[in-house]
Amino acid sequence: MRYEDVYRRSIEQPEAFWAEAAGAIDWETPPERILDYSNPPFRRWFVGGRTNLCHNAVDRHLAQRGDQPALIAVSTETNEQRSYSYRDVHREVNAFAATLAGLGVEEGDRVVIYMPNIAQAAFAMLACARLGAVHSVVFGGFAAPNLALRIDDARPKVLVCADAGMRAGKVIRYKPLVDRALEACAHPPGAVLVVNRGLDDALELQAGRDHDFDRLRQQHEGVEVPVAWVEASHPSYLLYTSGTTGKPKGVQRETGGYAVALALSMRAVYDIGPGQVMFTTSDVGWVVGHSYIVYGPLIAGATSIIYEGLPTSPDPGIWWRLCAEHGVRTLFSSPTAIRVLKKQDPDHIHRHDLSKLQYVFLAGEPLDEPTARWAGETIGKRIIDNYWQTETGWPVLSLLPGVDLKPSKLGSPGLPNLGYRLKLINEVSGEECAAGEKGVLAIVPPLPPGCLSTVWGDDQRFLSSYFSHFKELLYSSLDWAIRDEDGYYFILGRTDDVINVAGHRLGTREIEESASGCALVAEAAVIGAADETKGQVPVVFALLRQSAGDTDGRQQAAESIRARIVDQLGAVAGPARIYLVEALPKTRSGKLLRRSLQALVEQRDPGDLSTLDDPGALDAVKRALEQGSDLKPRKG
Ligand code: ATP
Ligand code: MG
Repeated sequence: MRYEDVYRRSIEQPEAFWAEAAGAIDWETPPERILDYSNPPFRRWFVGGRTNLCHNAVDRHLAQRGDQPALIAVSTETNEQRSYSYRDVHREVNAFAATLAGLGVEEGDRVVIYMPNIAQAAFAMLACARLGAVHSVVFGGFAAPNLALRIDDARPKVLVCADAGMRAGKVIRYKPLVDRALEACAHPPGAVLVVNRGLDDALELQAGRDHDFDRLRQQHEGVEVPVAWVEASHPSYLLYTSGTTGKPKGVQRETGGYAVALALSMRAVYDIGPGQVMFTTSDVGWVVGHSYIVYGPLIAGATSIIYEGLPTSPDPGIWWRLCAEHGVRTLFSSPTAIRVLKKQDPDHIHRHDLSKLQYVFLAGEPLDEPTARWAGETIGKRIIDNYWQTETGWPVLSLLPGVDLKPSKLGSPGLPNLGYRLKLINEVSGEECAAGEKGVLAIVPPLPPGCLSTVWGDDQRFLSSYFSHFKELLYSSLDWAIRDEDGYYFILGRTDDVINVAGHRLGTREIEESASGCALVAEAAVIGAADETKGQVPVVFALLRQSAGDTDGRQQAAESIRARIVDQLGAVAGPARIYLVEALPKTRSGKLLRRSLQALVEQRDPGDLSTLDDPGALDAVKRALEQGSDLKPRKG
């Protein structure tokens, strides 16, 4: 099979292509029509088909692989490891579904899930899917105000939480955060279901509102809850975007198209079939966790590892040990995690038998060349960069080892995934770009199955956020990209990360790549600061691998960063100021928050910080700004 042929068919004969792909899942009633695109850009895939995500992920495997491990839950925080077979998952999910139904949850109701990365989070999600209820998982690291915001938007009937999570050996009590969020909410749910892990001695349940899951569950032991067969477009879940560029958007996902797209991508992209093992290191609270910890691997009849803990604890070999122990074929992680592991002794990797491991996929943020090169050389496996978004639910750009594995190119997430018709649009002219020309990445609608169907409760925001940027009706989340002559795409950052220096348009990503290629630099962030003569000038924030020491040392370090950038990108990209910082502001999902850096540089209010991971990072930046640039001023 050639990638080119399969891809072309997916674009030129989408209905035939997707009709065939739909055969990979079970339908209670087969679709009457593959696509309804009578109201662009809204679209409905598999119209009239009735199916259920939980049935496809669990029930249908019972006959063939009931005793095969489905989910292996590992916590290096509580030092527990437990393997759940498909039959075990079926039992747990039914108990959960019966408990939720007992609290009044019905088809179409929303359920907010606020849990650590443990098996019960997956059971809660699958239980909602079983009932046709719409879950909205909120990442367990979010604070009360973030949770409150999402509750008020989703208006759940029930909230499911754990008593606590753990991070780096510390217990993080969830329930008080839930209590605080519910106080702040305009639309609190009527019931809170608490999975008590026994981590919080001071756990308090509010009579009438809060329920202990284990106690309620006893009433439903052994009950089998019938699957709710829902129409393909029925929403399966809501998931809020990271909020890197502003207020998070409630991405609404369909059911049928999502199941089909996941089944396809498990084979084509991740090359995982029944009985094979996938380890996705993400959190169930992110889209990667939804698609490739929970639904994707289970729909495929594979085994999925869900992991609570740090990549470095009890030692930096933990992930590789799990890969060896469970025979992981595909590891899916993020550039941030790899950068953490890069600082460790590579023997932690080499000590383990990784003969079953075939691929390491990385997604969520740009995979810089130094990290990609290090990972390839040190892990010795194919490193595959994946580009996608919460909105799309599955990769937009990737290499496809399950179809035809093309060579990788450093810095590129590869080629368009099946079903994605992409265009690069010149921001000024609105015309399609030629090879080698920078443009804004857009998807030609109708969006393929599995992508968002709208923004929850706000069709207008769906249209204005994603479909109103060009003359043509095109979807875009405004990432800047370039395509080379072989059709490979390179993501250059977000369009609001492009700066204009004396009429030259520069992507901050390019400058960051160049800076982080400097041996001294662990990570860099670049923003454009207003400048009277040039319009904007690049300002670099660099996190060094080791302290540069005194003022002289710092100036030398800054000078070598500058020299490298000028050497690679030309004088126009030369930073006006370089600040050596101890931390960089990031979102909870590990993405650089350039907008807050920009605001601090321009002495504005840093804006909505609810998605900020570590408030200390902003203080580190403020301190650096007060101390002044580490780059000696240049003449002229
Ligand atoms: P918001 O939309 O709320 O501002 P966000 O865009 O950070 O937040 P996500 O959906 O989590 O929310 O992230 C998707 C974005 O992450 C992409 O649009 C892109 O900017 C970036 N991204 C994801 N994967 C890659 C990758 N492989 N290479 C480069 N950038 C990537
Ligand atoms: Mg986005």
